[in-house]
Amino acid sequence: MQRISARQCTLGGQLEFDGIGVHSAEPVSLVIEPAPADTGYQFSRVLEDGRKVGPSPVVFSSVTRTTLCTTIDLGESTSVAMIEHVISALSGLGIDNAYLTLYGAECPILDGSADIYMQAIKTVGLQVQVATRKYIKILRTVTVRENDAFAALEPFNGRRLDLEIDFDCQVIGRQRMIFDWTPRRYVEDVSRARTFGFMRDAKILRQAGYALGSSLENSIALEDDRILNNTPLRYEDEFVRHKILDAIGDLALGGMPFYGKFRSYKGGHSLNALVLSSLFASDANYEIVSANDLPLAFDSLDDIPEGFEVKSYLRSVG
Ligand SMILES: [Zn+2]
Repeated sequence: MQRISARQCTLGGQLEFDGIGVHSAEPVSLVIEPAPADTGYQFSRVLEDGRKVGPSPVVFSSVTRTTLCTTIDLGESTSVAMIEHVISALSGLGIDNAYLTLYGAECPILDGSADIYMQAIKTVGLQVQVATRKYIKILRTVTVRENDAFAALEPFNGRRLDLEIDFDCQVIGRQRMIFDWTPRRYVEDVSRARTFGFMRDAKILRQAGYALGSSLENSIALEDDRILNNTPLRYEDEFVRHKILDAIGDLALGGMPFYGKFRSYKGGHSLNALVLSSLFASDANYEIVSANDLPLAFDSLDDIPEGFEVKSYLRSVG
């Protein structure tokens, strides 16, 4: 049986997302379209005068900023910000190729998770492509540190994220999650986890012109040892799950999915970007391998998330 996980994948159709930027509070639109095999993720931005900049590949070498969110440069002095949640949604679902066009400076925050992307992609389904998927196989451990925080990529037979956070806040405290990736587990265990922030930081950020669009509609807000949202958490340990969501988006900037283990303690966007640049600093750290040459630690049944139509898959199974 041909494993879907061995083949490249794109969206079954075009989607548009309208929302606001969490930092600017400005209305923004994001269009995601299917793309041919080996395209990866390519971002364009349409400026206010109608001029289009891009498409430009979403890769770690284009990252210009990792404070508060991940920002990439498209050239012509134009960037797009807050790309991590939409890229996480695509990568988490196993979508390899997509064109993204942003009408605005930052991607819409939507509900602060990847859930709205999941619901929308469900309506168009997944399109399996003929080309074989390729992975970045980790050959040597690469670690980056900042005080007591670290991020590491290690050789491992599978695709695992082992992430731990430790906040001086009773609601969060110490949370650890070991996540063995499959699209189905991403949808069920990660995609609905929302971003979070502390009111004391929000005040400072707003004075600096950031987080102007953040609200209880798109974030979990924490004050002292209290959650301000009236609705319950979506997962008991939603905080560490959102960090997994972020890391999946950040690591996708490697240009293709990694095969190995990612470990992180008190990490975030900047350590995630650093560990990728350290990995690519030496050819001895990794190799590009075909999915057909990897003993993936999951079978085809676990590849397909509930409710997602996979086009061409059923037809291609002999
Ligand atoms: Zn996030």
